[in-house]
Amino acid sequence: MDRVEGTVIARHGALIRVHTNGRTLLVTSRRRLRWRGGRPTAPNLVVGDRVIVETHGDEGVIVEVQPRHSSLLRRSPGTRKPQVIAANIDQALLVFAATKPPPKRGLLDRFLVACHVAGIQPVITMNKVDQGTEAIAPWRSVYEGLGYRVLFVSARTGWGLGTVKRCLSESTTLFCGPSGAGKSSILNAVYPGFKLRVGSLSGSTGKGRHTTTRAELMPLPSGGFVVDTPGLKEFGLWRVDASTLQESFPEIAQHQGCCRFADCSHSHEPGCAVIDALENQEIDRQRYESYVTLLQETRLPDGGRRESRPGNPAAP
Ligand code: GDP
Ligand code: ZN
Repeated sequence: MDRVEGTVIARHGALIRVHTNGRTLLVTSRRRLRWRGGRPTAPNLVVGDRVIVETHGDEGVIVEVQPRHSSLLRRSPGTRKPQVIAANIDQALLVFAATKPPPKRGLLDRFLVACHVAGIQPVITMNKVDQGTEAIAPWRSVYEGLGYRVLFVSARTGWGLGTVKRCLSESTTLFCGPSGAGKSSILNAVYPGFKLRVGSLSGSTGKGRHTTTRAELMPLPSGGFVVDTPGLKEFGLWRVDASTLQESFPEIAQHQGCCRFADCSHSHEPGCAVIDALENQEIDRQRYESYVTLLQETRLPDGGRRESRPGNPAAP
């Protein structure tokens, strides 16, 4: 009997595909798994889980799971329960095009909140810089000023792809972004010949591809993985409450505790340090608008609000 460590890259019912030392094993899982560091709330094996497999000849069985350092959740269809779709994702490449399709700040800010909540490092990636960077140049200073990593790249000319390749090499990376931003093109330019499931990264409408609800990890030649998930569009906000939202905006978190009211929502209150900073142009107005939009979503019935707190205004 041997014990090997590996990463779950796909699930097919009871069969689980585990990547270990450059090869792939098809194994089963012991019913009573040992969860190192304690059982998680959703004790199901998901892609990205780091596992110990006991092998006997050609057969293998998963016996142990390492603690997860991040969990990507989505609301499971038809219910309000969260579902873990992947574990241990290190980073998300948030891909937008410089001009076409027009990049949307609101979507970027939503992704940044989702990354914060999931414990995933965001890398803002502006693609198609060969088409001109006038529209997005101001983004760079705003987001770098907030401490985010911003890459300018072109899948077409190869500009900046060396950095992307280094960034992907040993990490597990989720690609997010609107359809047509160039996610597949970037991956194909960085790893020529690397075959993606058609349409899977592009978040297309599902036409001409088999629809699966499961995420998979695709091993990269360099040791890292790319997360291929049809659930990308659902990488939205799940039950984010107002205080989590505020922590997800560094420029708002920075003023936390400086407002007149301890439970200030920073949307309309007098003596609000965030609104003061906005008026002094220390906070970018579009970022603030994203915050207000997302704050309203936390107040929707199936949004983030776990309980209504008296004294917390229900509407701005
Ligand atoms: P995805 O939906 O995000 O995977 O986007 P695709 O990779 O399918 O790219 C969408 C379109 O943008 C395709 O027609 C690509 O040829 C084009 N495209 C991708 N990257 C670039 C780039 O860097 N520059 C230019 N000019 N076009 C690009
Ligand atoms: Zn305030």
